[in-house]
Amino acid sequence: MTLRIRDLPSPNQDDRPVGTPIDMLVLHYTGMRSGEEAIARLRDPAARVSSHYVVEEDGTVFRLVPEARRAWHAGISHWRGRTGLNASSIGIEVVNPGHDWGYRPFPALQMAAVCDLCLEILARHPIPAINLVAHSDIAPDRKQDPGELFDWEGLAANGVGLWPHDSAAMPAEAAAPALLAAIGYRTDLPLPVLLAAFQRHWRPARVDGVADAGTLARLAAIAALAAA
Ligand SMILES: [Zn+2]
Repeated sequence: MTLRIRDLPSPNQDDRPVGTPIDMLVLHYTGMRSGEEAIARLRDPAARVSSHYVVEEDGTVFRLVPEARRAWHAGISHWRGRTGLNASSIGIEVVNPGHDWGYRPFPALQMAAVCDLCLEILARHPIPAINLVAHSDIAPDRKQDPGELFDWEGLAANGVGLWPHDSAAMPAEAAAPALLAAIGYRTDLPLPVLLAAFQRHWRPARVDGVADAGTLARLAAIAALAAA
């Protein structure tokens, strides 16, 4: 499928710091009642927020900011020891009302467009698979998006991001903080907050912040993939 991309420029952008490589891809949901409302906000100078792309529920892709420029989507953010991730990332907003306005499944057409867009971006920039993250991964104390209904497993099956395969090793519960840190999460937040963020991405069937056996196995699996 060839993506058709419509340009709807946003003023909410600036230069990336000189010499900053683009090596992260951050997925969001819009969290507003409609795509139109979300796009209007992402183009409102007073809102001071934006993203590079918005993907509507029917699969239409809008480009608000050129990839070479910095969009303002991540806010205060941490991943793998780095902060201020707008500088080095591309942001995609996926239209969905989110947890505040009636969170609902992402339609197949929309996910297909997200997948194709990610594949095109990955072909243009050297982005490691572990750096394909949710907003909730890089701001676990503030954000839940794109949330547990987002089809990370389907994306990974198409070569976009990581998905845990069944791990033979079952780490002890005490290993959870070190595994979370090895994956890339900041370490200075309560463990249940970090575990819930991990589950929202990599164990969506159960987002409760508890290090049960299934969560521990997947933590070990993703940490191993992140180190590979
Ligand atoms: Zn977000």
